[in-house]
Amino acid sequence: MTASKILLLIIDGVGDRPCEALGNKTPLQAASLPNLDTLAKTGICGIMDPVAAGIRAGSDTSHLSLLGYPPQQYYTGRGPLEAAGCGISMEPGMIGFRANYATVTEGLVSDRRAGRIEDTKEISRAVKEGVDLSKYGVTIEFEPGTGHRAALALKGKGLSADVTTNDPKKTGAAPLTIVPTKDTAEAKHTAEVCNEFARQAAGILENHPVNLDRIKAGKNPANAVLIRGAGEMGVYEPFEKKHELTGSVVAAAALIAGIGVSVGLERIPVLPTTPLSEQVNLVMSELDKKDFVLFNIKNADEYGHDGKAQEKKDFLEKIDEAIKPFLAREDLLIAVCGDHSTPCTIKEHSADPVPLIIHGDGVRVDTVEKYDEISCAAGGMCRICGGSLMAILLDLVDKTHKYGA
Ligand code: ZN
Ligand code: ZN
Repeated sequence: MTASKILLLIIDGVGDRPCEALGNKTPLQAASLPNLDTLAKTGICGIMDPVAAGIRAGSDTSHLSLLGYPPQQYYTGRGPLEAAGCGISMEPGMIGFRANYATVTEGLVSDRRAGRIEDTKEISRAVKEGVDLSKYGVTIEFEPGTGHRAALALKGKGLSADVTTNDPKKTGAAPLTIVPTKDTAEAKHTAEVCNEFARQAAGILENHPVNLDRIKAGKNPANAVLIRGAGEMGVYEPFEKKHELTGSVVAAAALIAGIGVSVGLERIPVLPTTPLSEQVNLVMSELDKKDFVLFNIKNADEYGHDGKAQEKKDFLEKIDEAIKPFLAREDLLIAVCGDHSTPCTIKEHSADPVPLIIHGDGVRVDTVEKYDEISCAAGGMCRICGGSLMAILLDLVDKTHKYGA
């Protein structure tokens, strides 16, 4: 039986380098991963350069590449993808920004996370409904993300993504004036629009009951909106048309969910706090309905960024336990990989290739017995480019077209 469904399981930032805290093993090498090892043992393994050898991929450019959308052609910045992930319906040409609430005291940013505010639905609605940019011919969309995060999108004629941020990226400094990065009328106009947005938003937030209550409770008010990562929403060939697969995305990170939505996958909402087992159940039921599911598991990346090798290893063991239900499905072709490496030793993404397993009926089972960076490098897939992954998966589910006669 040829597998009919594809699960692309991306463990964010899974790849690593030898860590002293783990006896010079990588977190994957040090972890006990019976289920991933079973997939490796009964599948074909390899290593993969998500974008290209030597390129330090971001999560966004990597996911685009793995989904078959060359980032060199499609990527227009993080803002519009993040905005799509926060639930804004992004149309081509709209300018998207990442945003976050901050506390400004006497003109200076005193807390870039606004007292780790958790629920910004009400104040975000107030900003969205209260900011009026009609004199610029611009309408806005503004939606909350998780915690202090949010996203902004501008819609109108003559806009550009060539503008800076108002985020001083440190406390004790005043929010910056946004300026154009190119000498064009569109960039100048957009910078003006952005500054006016920030000014009006601060005015609305200053006296909002949510903030007055926060001050009363001794908490930092969310009285400023910092925006960054401007990008123009691009045009994406719909996933279903491109790959002839229906699909969903299950991802707690707004950025990844936004990439999924942008290419036309259906978003199944999960939060960073949704237990892994629940996320796996959602993926399982999506696989009953669709041909393809992109499932991104957050957090391994964060442990990498924090340099916490032991915690990264422990978390990988939790992932291993949670994904067990996938192993019982015979209709499934599973690809397990990372979107990039995030070595605890450098606390940043690296260009080290990520380990990859493809498991399912018909694959050429190789001799690899463990899922880790070193074992997979000896596998039957050798070293591939992320941009080839979808084509390989489509071939294995027999949904590819012959090249030539
Ligand atoms: Zn990532
Ligand atoms: Zn990262």
